[in-house]
Amino acid sequence: SAQAKEEEKRAFDNDRAHVFHSWSAQDKISPKVWAAAEGSTLYDFDGNAFIDMGSQLVSANLGHNNPRLVEAIQRQAARLTNINPAFGNDVRSDVAAKIVSMARGEFSHVFFTNGGADAIEHSIRMARLHTGRNKILSAYRSYHGATGSAMMLTGEHRRLGNPTTDPDIYHFWAPFLHHSSFFATTQEEECERALKHLEDVIAFEGAGMIAAIVLEPVVGSSGIIVPPAGYLNGVRELCDKHGILFIADEVMVGFGRTGKLFAYEHAGDDFQPDMITFAKGVNAGYAPLGGIVMTQAIRDTFGSEAYSGGLTYSGHPLAVAPAKAALEIYAEGEIIPRVARLGAELIEPRLRELAEENVAIADVRGIGFFWAVEFNADATAMAAGAAEFKERGVWPMISGNRFHIAPPLTTTDDELVALLDAVEAAAQAVELTFAG
Ligand code: PLP
Repeated sequence: SAQAKEEEKRAFDNDRAHVFHSWSAQDKISPKVWAAAEGSTLYDFDGNAFIDMGSQLVSANLGHNNPRLVEAIQRQAARLTNINPAFGNDVRSDVAAKIVSMARGEFSHVFFTNGGADAIEHSIRMARLHTGRNKILSAYRSYHGATGSAMMLTGEHRRLGNPTTDPDIYHFWAPFLHHSSFFATTQEEECERALKHLEDVIAFEGAGMIAAIVLEPVVGSSGIIVPPAGYLNGVRELCDKHGILFIADEVMVGFGRTGKLFAYEHAGDDFQPDMITFAKGVNAGYAPLGGIVMTQAIRDTFGSEAYSGGLTYSGHPLAVAPAKAALEIYAEGEIIPRVARLGAELIEPRLRELAEENVAIADVRGIGFFWAVEFNADATAMAAGAAEFKERGVWPMISGNRFHIAPPLTTTDDELVALLDAVEAAAQAVELTFAG
């Protein structure tokens, strides 16, 4: 309608005039304006529908406008919206208890933050205070957030546009067979050599000076990289040998994305990190929320001495209310096993088949509802792929030379097939533009 067009124009004009965007050269962007969303579908102001291929920023795990989450927010809004974090609150307590009970391993407490980056900030601050050591290690090809130390932990180009704010962070190469830093030709070799490399980094940085190793159990933004079997366990062994804490950054992959509640569970029943950082999927992105799950030992470091850190909105009622509803949905046990099954039985075979036919595809990798299709192609060809997706009613998630396939975990079978059909067509567009 004319009124809808008017609203869209006002939104766009005010955006361009007054909204400063993340990660962007402000003059070079033209943001799409959305009107509404339902399930896995986004609607623009013309009423066009698009499948949300990236779940926004891999956060809308339970889809858009999920009635149970919306109702949880509405109920909480009518009751209590804002409390000083020093007070107790029933919903925050329930969510902490539920996360501790659902996380595999021995954990005791949760510290709530506003999102992923501040969860990382607090996790490494606690690790430093707990161990009395200052160095932190993280991997190249990682993303840990855009605040001071989280930005410095981030092991990719986005860190480089920033002044160094935390000089005691060091990077190492984690396993990634497709671009092996170790001249490996099998996953076993890659795993073994990556662990030897990390052992050397630890030795040369001084094992007794390292507080923590921060790792994404499945790497997200930097390329969707599933570690080889045994790698996380090997890192755990090195940590145990040297009194180093293992911080699992589950901000992107936690809460079902990989077909387990937390991605570290793929490392087996015996594996557990010392801290888990989470955000996004904890309440499916219905309000800003993140946090840290910690062991009793870490909590006890701050038993009689105060922890010098906090946030006005630590466990904000309107953010934990949808988390409580989301955790109930995850705990019902339908969604996450389906993600594991469809990832293995529908998505993976389809993408592998596509890679065999399409000469521009360099690699396919992933797990659950979390897949990368990497191309040997330039920006023009990738743009042709993006256009084809939109043509077919899918709003793509494309990062450099990769499609990232990360739809809501509630995406229906039919929607998944439509999405995979669009991936195939978009991949053909990339191939034709690049090679044709
Ligand atoms: N850690 C990981 C693994 C992430 O993927 C992200 C965001 O994508 C962050 C941390 C930062 O989270 P936020 O953007 O909520 O600060």
